[in-house]
Amino acid sequence: MNTIAFIGLGHMGGPMAANLAKAGHAVRGFDLSPASLDLARASGVSTAGSVAEVVSGADLVITMLPAGTHVLAVWQELVAIVPSGTLLIDCSTIDMDSARKAHALAEAHACPALDAPVSGGTGGASAGTLTFMVGGDAAVFAGARPVFEAMGKKIIHCGDASAGQAAKICNNMILGISMIAVGEAFVLGERLGLSHQALFDVASVSSGQCWSLTTYCPVPGPVPTSPANHAYQPGFAAALMLKDLKLSQAAAEDTGALTPLGAKAALLYQLFSDEGFGAQDFSSIINMLRDKSVV
Ligand code: NAD
Repeated sequence: MNTIAFIGLGHMGGPMAANLAKAGHAVRGFDLSPASLDLARASGVSTAGSVAEVVSGADLVITMLPAGTHVLAVWQELVAIVPSGTLLIDCSTIDMDSARKAHALAEAHACPALDAPVSGGTGGASAGTLTFMVGGDAAVFAGARPVFEAMGKKIIHCGDASAGQAAKICNNMILGISMIAVGEAFVLGERLGLSHQALFDVASVSSGQCWSLTTYCPVPGPVPTSPANHAYQPGFAAALMLKDLKLSQAAAEDTGALTPLGAKAALLYQLFSDEGFGAQDFSSIINMLRDKSVV
């Protein structure tokens, strides 16, 4: 069992830290938000008042923060404090450049590091069923596997430093595009007089099958657990989808990769957020696709 410092106890980090504590690790957490610290204490995680305090005595540090700037600021502070050899894991979804810089910071201080973004949302974080996509040294990954297993079900080593972040960015570009494709198909079906259930029954067992249809169906009815049945409460907020699509577009620009559908998906989610719907589940973009005056 490890002594773990967990920095960033928000919607994802809070339940992830709680699952580590449940698995028997000694977990101490830190967050700038007093409300997050209160919730963490109620779930068996002890708390600290600063980065310096939370990492003291930890053999492993996990960060789960909003974006690359937050991760780099926190890692810059903590590498100056922790003993060399302390394992650093970032589970946030961040841009490739920041992910590489975080690895470089760790290397300069002789700390092993892994980028380990997740898929599965807040439900997966609470249930301990997240998918981890991990970049970094294979031996370091193997040693950290039990820690990931306390928070997730599928743990995949994607390659060297920042490969986990690359996998996350590519996966979520597929997700953003496929949700728009499924939304467009339902809107067209409506115009053709096809019931939602009939389209679902066909496409879910045919070549149109995908996660956006069978798990997160954007119309109410066919998949009772999808956000469409609950007034599009997230779930996965449209603003977060926009964030991830922007990360993939930045990476495409850097590498010269052609991603015309990713670019269009980013534009549509930008428009949707600008219209004031960023806090809704990302599947609700179907409502904008119905509205000819907007798209
Ligand atoms: P969140 O905003 O709920 O949590 C982030 C937490 O970090 C907040 O509690 C904030 O107070 C804290 N924080 C910010 N700066 C800090 C600092 N300097 N020191 C300490 N704490 C600090 O966000 P979230 O939904 O938990 O997402 C976290 C990361 O996970 C993001 O990168 C997001 O893209 C990714 N992610 C989110 C989901 C999701 O469904 N919410 C799914 C997969 C991945």
